[in-house]
Amino acid sequence: MGIATINPATGDVVKTFEALTDQEIESKLALAQQAFEHYRQTRFEPRSQWLNAAANVLDTEKEHFGKLMTLEMGKTLKSAIAEVEKCAWVCRYYAEHASSFLADDHAQTDASSSFVRYQPLGAVLAVMPWNFPFWQVFRFAAPALMAGNVGLLKHASNVPQCALAIAAVFQKAGFPDGVFQTLLIGADKVAALMEDDRIKAATLTGSEPAGASLAMAAGKQIKKVVLELGGSDPFIVLPSADLDVAVSTAVTARLINNGQSCIAAKRFIVANTIADEFEQRLLERYKALKIGDPMLPDTDIGPLATPGILQDLDQQVRAISQQGARIAIGGTPLDGAGNYYPPTIITDIPAASSTAKEEFFGPVALLFRVADIDEAIHLANITPFGLGASAWTSDVAEQEKLINGIEAGAVFINGMVKSDPRLPFGGIKRSGFGRELGIQGIHEFVNIKTVWVK
Ligand code: NAP
Repeated sequence: MGIATINPATGDVVKTFEALTDQEIESKLALAQQAFEHYRQTRFEPRSQWLNAAANVLDTEKEHFGKLMTLEMGKTLKSAIAEVEKCAWVCRYYAEHASSFLADDHAQTDASSSFVRYQPLGAVLAVMPWNFPFWQVFRFAAPALMAGNVGLLKHASNVPQCALAIAAVFQKAGFPDGVFQTLLIGADKVAALMEDDRIKAATLTGSEPAGASLAMAAGKQIKKVVLELGGSDPFIVLPSADLDVAVSTAVTARLINNGQSCIAAKRFIVANTIADEFEQRLLERYKALKIGDPMLPDTDIGPLATPGILQDLDQQVRAISQQGARIAIGGTPLDGAGNYYPPTIITDIPAASSTAKEEFFGPVALLFRVADIDEAIHLANITPFGLGASAWTSDVAEQEKLINGIEAGAVFINGMVKSDPRLPFGGIKRSGFGRELGIQGIHEFVNIKTVWVK
């Protein structure tokens, strides 16, 4: 299937879309370039007003946008509405702070005046995934547009209505024509776009192969990229942790977004002395979860976004169990219509398991037992990923050791990994490079121009 809305709860094809023709892509690129020439001259004040207006549109229509997300990718409606609210937050955050984040930075040198001035780059291509169809886009767009860039969105092919709705939000908010456009195109068009002079940089959130492919195309043209890729975040629980809070957070941290989040806790690494109790309590909570129609308010877990994701997850669970692991709960796709996979816990995973190093993009928790903090950190760092990590201990010396020892773009102590407009977000190793959000996020797509005046 090309570009289409397919309801993951039923498998029904709701709506299909024609990809843009080459001529249509050309006119959108021309409009983006034309818009940039004018938009780059605008001041922060009108940009802030437009972005605050976008936040208001999001707030006013959050039910409608939430339903679109649930329809297209299956997240629960309540979480979809919360996602829209978070998008309004990031818009307001950058509307308020961009002018100070991008103010001239003065330095004392041998010049009479020397400073750094931040200037926009031009059109930035955003290649985005379906899992947080609004949030991923807004966390790129809010800082990029405040910095004076213009945005071109190539969204995932299974969320076209979200993609069109997002472009409409910016238009309704009053941004000049062409400042933010959606390109309904397949992934096969991305490499050619990177060759176009009018596109100055790109950001991609998604899988490793997609990231590598975009980075190669951009590298050939010497263009800047930011990559936010996969993760297999550890969730370490040591004996001094508050087990009640750790277990209840573990459930949310693994199952958020029906288990399809890059920063979901995917590997639970628990000290031997508390591991049996942790497993028991986690099992009880898993048993109480309600799987079903994501539109209903009491549903905890909806369907996976596509049949392909369900098949990949099923294969991984079969492989790890063939390698000797034990399935404590779940482990088989549910019968009937829709891409439903039950919350699953896997334990007794052999050290040699190659599958345990992969990312499980669905509601499957891997549980490991360790002797001490050193083994926990070693295991945490064993995957090729380095996105986030959550670690639970009330011992300050242990906290410091975890902060220093874990290879990840973020370490959260006694809390769940989450993105927050006020803090930078991104990974190391095969989880990508560059940062979104915070002051660091707005500095990714600017020319950091050095000015020296005698
Ligand atoms: P995906 O297949 O890589 O798709 C993401 C986007 O990339 C889509 O727009 C897709 O377009 C496009 N794409 C696919 N192949 C491409 C190629 N060769 N060249 C250029 N663009 C290409 O990823 P996914 O399976 O939808 O998303 C899940 C992955 O994203 C997981 O690994 C997850 O951890 C990661 N993720 C990371 C973050 C983060 O912030 N680090 C956040 C969310 C998700 P089509 O839909 O048209 O194929």
